[in-house]
Amino acid sequence: MYDVCIVGGGIAGSSLAYQLAPDFNVCVIEKKGLDEVGRKPCPGAVERSWFKGFSPEDFGAAALRIKSMRLSVGGRSLRVNFDGYVLNRHRFCRGLLEAALGEGFEWVRGRAEPSFKDGISHVRADERRIDAEVYVDASGSSAVLRGCYLPNRREMFALGYMETIDGGDGGDELDIHLLNHREVGWIFPAEHSTNVGYVTAGARGLDFRKLRSFKREIGLGGARVLERGQKLIPSYKPIRLVYDNVVAIGDAGFTVNPITCGGIGPSIAVANMLAESLKRGKSLEAFEAKYWRSLGKKFEKLHHVNRVLRKGWLPLWWAVRTYYDDNPLGKLIKQLLRI
Ligand SMILES: Cc1cc2nc3c(=O)[nH]c(=O)nc-3n(C[C@H](O)[C@H](O)[C@H](O)COP(=O)(O)OP(=O)(O)OC[C@H]3O[C@@H](n4cnc5c(N)ncnc54)[C@H](O)[C@@H]3O)c2cc1C
Repeated sequence: MYDVCIVGGGIAGSSLAYQLAPDFNVCVIEKKGLDEVGRKPCPGAVERSWFKGFSPEDFGAAALRIKSMRLSVGGRSLRVNFDGYVLNRHRFCRGLLEAALGEGFEWVRGRAEPSFKDGISHVRADERRIDAEVYVDASGSSAVLRGCYLPNRREMFALGYMETIDGGDGGDELDIHLLNHREVGWIFPAEHSTNVGYVTAGARGLDFRKLRSFKREIGLGGARVLERGQKLIPSYKPIRLVYDNVVAIGDAGFTVNPITCGGIGPSIAVANMLAESLKRGKSLEAFEAKYWRSLGKKFEKLHHVNRVLRKGWLPLWWAVRTYYDDNPLGKLIKQLLRI
């Protein structure tokens, strides 16, 4: 019997395992191998302020330091400071998990399948039965445990597509283009390459013609594509995180900024919060209350702002102007719109 069983060794699961391994009997079930963890079509832009206690630099995972963000709408561009990283997701997750392995947690390679009847009685993986006091769902959008209580619905997600393009000079700027009120294109620097992406609200399917014309516009029409992929991104109001002895964190718990779709920072912050609660012997309900006080309420407000933004250009313009104006309201909105 484990104290804690974590399903998923991505950003949220590895951050939690790293912090719990010294004090608890922990196992992580992950369907990918250690040589693959963290890899997914996501450029890994994240603000530095999310990291407390450990940072990407500790694991050689700060691929690039980012200093600014440029936002373009209809031919107009605005530039703001951004203090953050492009994260090498694989190095980050692997570094955290290897450090946790040194503290003696158990790594189970396999696809977790919960046994659910009036609650989760146990989880099966790698032909084993795994019992634990607390089960943490850090399985990303697939939400293998949380989904038993609150199933995913299509409208809860945006769809993100990313291509890694050969070449690029690194750089220290994130380049974001608001194509219309439902679609955003971006060009983020990476190590020896460039990531070009496209997010569409509502997960209605990608318009590849629009993506091609966006790439032509930014001069990358003929560029060699090294890798491509698409994934769902939670883009919805915050949900409950605790169900009986199951806690959902990261994308499984919709701890994602509904406007920017930035989920790396919040995944780490919520993993930290849960680790601290468990170490202090607090109840899961106390953890959930803390989450709502510190992040959940903010994300709920942003969800409502997001719904207004999705209705058309005018509010979008208003938000962009307010966000970038150097007044107290602009500063407050900037704080809420963290990546
Ligand atoms: C195109 C795109 C661009 C993005 N850009 C950014 C960005 O620039 N900045 C940002 O902050 N966020 C971004 N995000 C969001 C970010 O990727 C996620 O919010 C973040 O990765 C969430 O971490 P997680 O640990 O919850 O999930 P994940 O990192 O997805 O990890 C989930 C893990 O669970 C494992 N797993 C799943 N099912 C099972 C199972 N049944 N058994 C065992 N293991 C399982 C998976 O293999 C995976 O390792 C982007 C997302 C997309 C799709």
